[in-house]
Amino acid sequence: METATSIPELSCPICNADLPLAGDERLGESVYCTYCGAPGILVGRDKNDPETWDIEEDI
Ligand SMILES: [Zn+2]
Repeated sequence: METATSIPELSCPICNADLPLAGDERLGESVYCTYCGAPGILVGRDKNDPETWDIEEDI
């Protein structure tokens, strides 16, 4: 059984809804909350390690 790179469950900085990532996102990319539509920026310490990723409010 193959395990894909584990993508953490991130949440919207505005409404806290789960923001599932497709896995091909890149740091600095805009992501949009599917629930409230708020834009966020994908940030992280290591672009190769999704465990360090987070969503920051795009202001
Ligand atoms: Zn939201």
